[in-house]
Amino acid sequence: MRQRIAVVGGGPAGLTFARVLHRHDHPVTVLERDPAPDARPPGGTLDLHEKLGQLALDKAGVLAEFHALSRPEGQAMRILDTDGTVLRDWRPRPGERANPEIDRGQLRDLLLGPLAVQWGRGVAEVVPGTRDGVLVRFADGGEETFDLVVGADGAWSRVRPAASSATPHYTGVTLVETSLDDVDTRHPDLARLIGDGSVAVYGVNRALVAQRNSGGHVKVYAQFRAPLDWHLGLDPADAEAVRARLLSLFDGWADPALDLLRRGGAFVHRPLYVLPVSHTWAHVLGVTLLGDAAHLMPPLGVGANLAMLEGAELAEAVVAAPGPGDLDEAVRAFEERMWARAGRWATITAAGLERLVSPDPTDALALFDEIQAS
Ligand SMILES: Cc1cc2nc3c(=O)[nH]c(=O)nc-3n(C[C@H](O)[C@H](O)[C@H](O)COP(=O)(O)OP(=O)(O)OC[C@H]3O[C@@H](n4cnc5c(N)ncnc54)[C@H](O)[C@@H]3O)c2cc1C
Repeated sequence: MRQRIAVVGGGPAGLTFARVLHRHDHPVTVLERDPAPDARPPGGTLDLHEKLGQLALDKAGVLAEFHALSRPEGQAMRILDTDGTVLRDWRPRPGERANPEIDRGQLRDLLLGPLAVQWGRGVAEVVPGTRDGVLVRFADGGEETFDLVVGADGAWSRVRPAASSATPHYTGVTLVETSLDDVDTRHPDLARLIGDGSVAVYGVNRALVAQRNSGGHVKVYAQFRAPLDWHLGLDPADAEAVRARLLSLFDGWADPALDLLRRGGAFVHRPLYVLPVSHTWAHVLGVTLLGDAAHLMPPLGVGANLAMLEGAELAEAVVAAPGPGDLDEAVRAFEERMWARAGRWATITAAGLERLVSPDPTDALALFDEIQAS
């Protein structure tokens, strides 16, 4: 008899897990809180690494479709100092496919494909060890039981408490996001500055990063060290008030950088939280975690990649488990592997955040050079 498997969360981790199971004709229930795929803006662009996210897409059988949609030219990176001087202007070689970019919405639709996601099914709580398996309690009061519940429900996971008491803590760095539309026509000067990929400006404890998405859309991220209540007294919905506060934080920077903030639309506040580096837990029968739910780390270009590879690997482990009694062993072995790899990346990204938003802006430049050289 096939095991009853549920994955909570339809982000990169959950969808990759479900898509690989689907490829192997293994049934899975996908429970997603959002009422519909387009219920909220999908977010910015993701670079998917050859040995992480792209490997997962290969396991899901959609790598060729990814290559057709992705933007290898989006790997380009320009770095400026706060006076506007170009310090680095890196472009990928023709055919370079190490880390092509894809819009999150495109990636979601690619993974969704034939999957039958249960939308609007927010999970409130997961209770392992009941007579009939793992009980899932829904936000609407409903209940259902499964043999394996996979928590792929992100930073503020409702599944995680069933396995671990860890909670995310604030890194001291806040990110405020804004965006520009139709940049090539409406802001040609900024379009030239950003180029095909990203532009980053590093100052003392501050950074401004702009990333081109498809269709002339650009996401701008202001990053700075600040207490969590830095916006005290500000109405977050008052874009002009937030803009004025941000411009005062970046006071003295050259115009091209500040124009990214001056011309942006609404602002979204994203304080950066992380789980403890090398977060593990005592194995729980019938429950496991993937992606940000397992190892939330600073957004330095690996979170979605790891989430997807873990989703693919766990699905393959489930498929390879010869009988119902073998599933638990397969999950245990998967967790050991995930913890080791995620722990290495959590250490790297924690150190990376210290260097990217640093009292000494040359730290960020040195980090960029090290990555390019490796
Ligand atoms: C600004 C920024 C830029 C980033 N850039 C990159 C990048 O370039 N490359 C990269 O690899 N990573 C990047 N990351 C990190 C990446 O976004 C995350 O690591 C990745 O989204 C984690 O995927 P996930 O599936 O684990 O969780 P999520 O993407 O958070 O998905 C979780 C899903 O679960 C659903 N959910 C939540 N709670 C419940 C519930 N109770 N019941 C049911 N469903 C629920 C949510 O609606 C969501 O759909 C970036 C992050 C940020 C903030």
